Amino acid sequence: MTDYRLIYFSENRLPLGQLAAELDAILDKSRQNNVLVGVTGALMFSAGYFVQVLEGEQGAVEATFERIQQDSRHGDVQLVDFSPVAERTFSNWSMAYAGRREDASDELDAIGTKSGFDPSLLDGHQLFDKLKSRLLEAA
Ligand code: FAD
Repeated sequence: MTDYRLIYFSENRLPLGQLAAELDAILDKSRQNNVLVGVTGALMFSAGYFVQVLEGEQGAVEATFERIQQDSRHGDVQLVDFSPVAERTFSNWSMAYAGRREDASDELDAIGTKSGFDPSLLDGHQLFDKLKSRLLEAA
């Protein structure tokens, strides 16, 4: 069965004070759900944006993304890429967090005035590379 990779970014809608705790809750729930349907991937948070990669069978990735899009903890969800891949990149992670926990509690980074990170300026490959390098930095 061919695996697919989906990449999106979205805007945070959580108050900054709740962000770190909600991020933990999102990761816990993601790991529980994703392992049941064979979805793997990685999530990062930077400068008020989430960037996420989901990998797995087409139907499982689509169903997961449908649920994620309904979530009021973020908004303006922008699909960047959804394509078949020869192999998964995050096969060992039901949902890796690609970043430092402090990113989520660093108010300047959360607002976006410090890093200047703007995912709308990057294409799918660039976002994917950013996630991978963040994951390596965090390891
Ligand atoms: P429940 O956890 O029982 O939730 C029921 C409903 O309540 C859902 O509609 C849920 O969205 C909503 N809900 C639950 N908690 C909150 C809350 N604190 N604030 C607002 N609404 C809430 N889920 C995955 O399965 N895999 C992922 O990879 C994944 N990645 C995510 C990435 C981001 C950036 C965000 C914001 C969410 C992500 N989620 C992911 C969570 C997803 O959006 C759903 O909340 C979750 O999948 C619902 O799980 P459930 O069906 O077991 O329902």
